[in-house]
Amino acid sequence: MTSNAFTFLQKLTRAHGVSGNENEIRTLIRSKAEPYADEVWQDVLGNLIVHIKGEGPKVMLSAHMDSTGIIATHVDDDGFVSFATVGGLSAIDLVQQTFRFQNGTNAICVAREEKLPNIKTKDLYLDLGVRDGKHARELIRPGDTAVYTNHLRQMADNTVSGCYLDDRVGCLALLIAIRRIQKPAKNDLYFVFTTQEEVGTRGAKPAAFSIDPDYGIAVDVTVPDDQPGSLHEGTVKLGKGAGIKVLDSSVICSNKLVTFLRDVAEKRRIPAQTDIMLDGGTDAGPIRTTRGGVVTGGISIPCRNTHAAVELVDLDDVDACIDLIVALGEEALPQV
Ligand SMILES: [Zn+2]
Repeated sequence: MTSNAFTFLQKLTRAHGVSGNENEIRTLIRSKAEPYADEVWQDVLGNLIVHIKGEGPKVMLSAHMDSTGIIATHVDDDGFVSFATVGGLSAIDLVQQTFRFQNGTNAICVAREEKLPNIKTKDLYLDLGVRDGKHARELIRPGDTAVYTNHLRQMADNTVSGCYLDDRVGCLALLIAIRRIQKPAKNDLYFVFTTQEEVGTRGAKPAAFSIDPDYGIAVDVTVPDDQPGSLHEGTVKLGKGAGIKVLDSSVICSNKLVTFLRDVAEKRRIPAQTDIMLDGGTDAGPIRTTRGGVVTGGISIPCRNTHAAVELVDLDDVDACIDLIVALGEEALPQV
């Protein structure tokens, strides 16, 4: 991956896009995809659909552009802000992190001292640094959302760490593939940057229904099974290549597509590994069960510490995923 791609990934991970508030990230993605697409549109749920025309069967590739985050629920008279989580976040991930609201207001997340050490999210509050509640209420209204501010940084080997790699790294993979695929494509490709995945894969469902694809592929992160204390419930290891999804908690993938992806990876010498993730679902779930059912699989990027501000991925794995996505534009899939 080039240094340009790293800089763009930095930009993607910094863009605001808490589930249901994906405007900023969608605008950024759209500007990058539009020059290479036959058509681009946005649906009612806010999904961004990028169509690259091809002769073969219809393939929907999805990466969710929304992220987890927090949402203000109450501002007290001293200016402290209560909040709820959007998506699967635990208190331990949030405490003592810095956050940024969409209007640029910074906040620090603090635990009520008497609740330590067994804190729950309801024991946390935000401190904006304001002098009184009046000023806080000018800055923040209940319903406003905020995101981690941790910067993406280069780590040892070819790994990077930061927030919201889930699933901005999947969005990056789709965007690079959109640029690289030789046109006209061998299959009829619909790249969908979905919304509201983190609150229960709500965007992918209507998108899949309206596109009515023959094949579906979710491109998302997966939980590796290679850290101290890992329960050995998964299969993926960081740095071992693109994950070819067999199942997660939302889907059992089509054998036909698992085999196709494995064969293509072997033929093109793309490093790949089997992905089984018991703890978590993806857009593959709703796509699989749309209408009369869709032949569905997944391409997964191993990501440690998912939903924390210190997610970690290996860019070589991302490159392998991009190669596999490009192959889906260049290798004709059989008619379903
Ligand atoms: Zn995800």
